[in-house]
Amino acid sequence: MVSRVIPVDDFDLVIFGGTGDLARRKILPGLFRRFRAGQMPPGARIVGAARSEMTTAAYRKTIEGALKEFLDEADCDPKAIKSFLGTLDYVRIDATGTAGWSELAKLLRPDIIRAFYFSVAPSLFGPLAERLHKHRCAGSACRIVVEKPFGRDLETAQALNATLAEHFNEGQIYRIDHYLGKETVQNLMAVRFGNMLFEPLWNAQHVDHVQITVAETVGVNGRGEYYDKSGAMRDMVQNHIMQLICLIAMEPPSRFDPSSVRDEKLKVIRALDPPEASDIVRGQYTGGGEAAGYREEAGNPGSTTESYIAMKLGISNWRWAGTPFYLRTGKRLRARASEIAVVFKDAPHSIFGQDAGRHRNILTIRLQPNEGIQLGVTIKEPGPGGMRLIDVPLDMTFADALGPEADDAPDAYERLIMDVIRGDQTLFMRGDEVEAAWAWTDPIVEAWTRSGERPHEYEPGSTGPEEAQMLLHRSGRRWREIRP
Ligand code: NAP
Repeated sequence: MVSRVIPVDDFDLVIFGGTGDLARRKILPGLFRRFRAGQMPPGARIVGAARSEMTTAAYRKTIEGALKEFLDEADCDPKAIKSFLGTLDYVRIDATGTAGWSELAKLLRPDIIRAFYFSVAPSLFGPLAERLHKHRCAGSACRIVVEKPFGRDLETAQALNATLAEHFNEGQIYRIDHYLGKETVQNLMAVRFGNMLFEPLWNAQHVDHVQITVAETVGVNGRGEYYDKSGAMRDMVQNHIMQLICLIAMEPPSRFDPSSVRDEKLKVIRALDPPEASDIVRGQYTGGGEAAGYREEAGNPGSTTESYIAMKLGISNWRWAGTPFYLRTGKRLRARASEIAVVFKDAPHSIFGQDAGRHRNILTIRLQPNEGIQLGVTIKEPGPGGMRLIDVPLDMTFADALGPEADDAPDAYERLIMDVIRGDQTLFMRGDEVEAAWAWTDPIVEAWTRSGERPHEYEPGSTGPEEAQMLLHRSGRRWREIRP
């Protein structure tokens, strides 16, 4: 297979928060990989911006350290690192003050693509937007990339959208959700809309239910204070999992372009039913052995924030009415595993009799680890002894099917940053989409706050609270195993 890397045009990319964790761990290593793949043109330039006093030489040294720390050893080609570092500049700037803005304005080149990545605390998004205009850094063709979280409820998201809209039009705003940049997530669209096989069956008539699992083994240590104000619902469901639901449930867009795709996603969010309280299970991990429990890690002994959530959702439209979507996500679970499973209905009548067992087709889309797609197909168990049926997987683990090419595929951040440079908003969230997601989330969170209800406890290394099993057992279904 021949890899197709299409170089982008020259650009100036300014990373506000260029010394922060996200810039060092994801953004700059991602840009380096694109540089090494030949996608970044020789005229591209990256400017790190933060308040710390630092020369460009010192900044390059810092980023060299980050590349060596966060890239695979095989990617660390010293010659390539040296030339990549040559594309970096540093400007000392205060997002809330006046320092550094005129230096930045002088540094930016006219008539080439200009992008500003807001990799700073959300409270700085507004001040940055305002100063970019005031100091004439932003032209009508520039783009801004806004990190998550985009608000913490509908009101704050609306306020942020309004602030950004004072200075930029919607076509310039790239709200990032890195889940949309994942290879498998895009493959979900390719599988649905590039094949004739699935789409006719992709509806309530043929799909029994859908399960979405995003399980982590890590706890909140280090991020406890931030996480305690957010919880699994705001941190995972409102954004990442909502995007997955949209891609599974949406109608085929007429074209793979930003408006068509985002219009269809928005319709799904607006069709989501408000869940009943009995369809939601919240959990909080306890301590185990040496490990601290959630409340200790969050530094809040009375915390009622959920580190786990499981829900049953309904989508009120012609395609999905009657097919439940079950989702669960949590920290300190048995394994790190994210997958979507589309569980098809039983065949209407078994010609093989009771002994053949009950078999179902399940399409599994694995996001991590081992990205890939698997379809469970029922066949005859080989050998004598009559017609006994077994399920075998038709497996398309990308690493096996695509060989080394799969390893070279851009990761989510690198792909999305290159989309920003290309000016393609398809895989970014539109303002109305984010607001619709908060409008659905807010009443759920408000009900918990009103009730003061404590989440159920679960042991670290388990699959979550026992009560979550009941969500499916009630209707004779069961969660899939959480496997690494
Ligand atoms: P971080 O490690 O705390 O870095 C913050 C950066 O902002 C630093 O470079 C800091 O440098 C700079 N900064 C702070 N105040 C500033 C000001 N007034 N003016 C200019 N620069 C300022 O944060 P992070 O983890 O990289 O996160 C950045 C953003 O990405 C946040 O919105 C976060 O929610 C989001 N995010 C992060 C991750 C992640 O994995 N880290 C994942 C998803 C989303 P100085 O102190 O030198 O100014």
